[in-house]
Amino acid sequence: MSQLSTDSLFRAADPQTFARALLNLDCVDDLRQEHGQVCATVTHQGLTHRARLSNEEHFTWSCDCPEPPGEAPCLHAVLTGLNFTLDRHRRDRRPRPARSGPYDRPFDHEGLMRRLRTGESAPEDSPLAISLLREVALGRSRELQVLFDEALDVFALPAEERGPAYLRALHAAAETIGQFLVNGQRMNGEDLHATVSGYVEKTIDLIEDPDGAVAAASREIDWIADNTYGPEEEDL
Ligand SMILES: [Zn+2]
Repeated sequence: MSQLSTDSLFRAADPQTFARALLNLDCVDDLRQEHGQVCATVTHQGLTHRARLSNEEHFTWSCDCPEPPGEAPCLHAVLTGLNFTLDRHRRDRRPRPARSGPYDRPFDHEGLMRRLRTGESAPEDSPLAISLLREVALGRSRELQVLFDEALDVFALPAEERGPAYLRALHAAAETIGQFLVNGQRMNGEDLHATVSGYVEKTIDLIEDPDGAVAAASREIDWIADNTYGPEEEDL
């Protein structure tokens, strides 16, 4: 019985019977194991029969229907066997309990803001790009828009910190927009791009940019948004 498998049933059964069984899988009740055999009650086309089968040493089957006993099992026996092997397959694939891990964490707005502001990471932090990629993978579009909106608002910082903080936020935003787009989350990428470029347009002239790095980062963001497309989500 332990040898009973979808494959052994397929080999034992007449192909037409096997095909009919596949179309009538829900006819089986009271599926159980008894003395090394698989038994069930099968109700098909208004008639109820009891079938049993085993594949201990070799494939055997019996049924109380009029089908003559022979090599190939009757429809009821095939249905019984198929339901047994499919049940076992489902049991084996029962989902494991959810594992708590990095993907279950709530959005770490404070931690991300701290790193965007200072450029420094605590020893327990994963690299900033990885932290952002994780949020992209979770589709946290709204949270990321709020994050970058705040990260680009550097005007309460001491003058000498504004440029570097603004530039860090721009680079991180560019990466995040690009990740959304290459991840097939085109609308999320475009939403974040709209938020960031809207804010940059209003503020970029207020940032000192002696070596042109801020202007270059801003162009980079527009280039990514214009050139990195996944499939058109709207058309799917
Ligand atoms: Zn039968």
